[in-house]
Amino acid sequence: ATFADLGLCPPLVQTCRKLGFQKPTPVQRAIIPLILNTNGTSSSSSSSSSNHHLLTLSATGSGKTAAFALPLLHLLSSDPYGIYAIVLTPTRELAKQIQQQIMALGSGSGWKITCALIIGGEDLTRQGLELSRQPNFVVATPGRLAELCRDDGSGLYRPNFKKVRFVVLDEADRLLSAKSGFERDVAEVLLQSTTKMERMADHPVGEGRRVRRSVCRTLLFSATMTRSLKSLEEMAGAGVGRLPL
Ligand code: AMP
Repeated sequence: ATFADLGLCPPLVQTCRKLGFQKPTPVQRAIIPLILNTNGTSSSSSSSSSNHHLLTLSATGSGKTAAFALPLLHLLSSDPYGIYAIVLTPTRELAKQIQQQIMALGSGSGWKITCALIIGGEDLTRQGLELSRQPNFVVATPGRLAELCRDDGSGLYRPNFKKVRFVVLDEADRLLSAKSGFERDVAEVLLQSTTKMERMADHPVGEGRRVRRSVCRTLLFSATMTRSLKSLEEMAGAGVGRLPL
């Protein structure tokens, strides 16, 4: 299969060629069509969708960053306003690499893709300001993003996650392990971005009533299957599709 066979739009296919990606890696072949087909706008019976959340077992170096970045860039082009996707990763260095790759893959889109890097050790106020400009992507380490989500009276605007359609947990085994200390921050970001109150005029509960529904998908990538991932999978039941690669 080629990148075009997977359903990606011509500008993205061309960018892959320019970056020297001759053909999709196995994880890209498996994931790209899945993300493109479950395009983040859930049906009203979203909880019955087996692809609502996706857990992919894949090693570093497998091309997993492009496996999620390419289809998200493709889908994003139909609605490029508001924060579309949040990517959480355990280290600042990984966050920088992911941001660079998203910017490189989005460079041929014909308009300016924006991707904020929200990591510890850098100016909090500047990062709050950057989030208030609603970048297409937010690539973050959990502690810093959770800090910016909290209403701590600092005068910073809380980021607007109303339009977030995807949350990616990169190195999910590390993000969710009790030892790493990220669990609480990851949970906070997930809570704020995945569950939203939306007006649904056509919903049975009535015209204009606000109902809670999830319109956001979680994509988990992990090198290993751990106990916390297993319990997450059990909790979500059929909602998690697993791809061992
Ligand atoms: P990752 O697993 O996301 O850390 O990617 C590892 C490296 O593989 C990155 O430097 C990518 O630029 C590169 N890469 C990703 N997809 C491909 C591909 N289809 N062909 C060649 N290189 C790739």
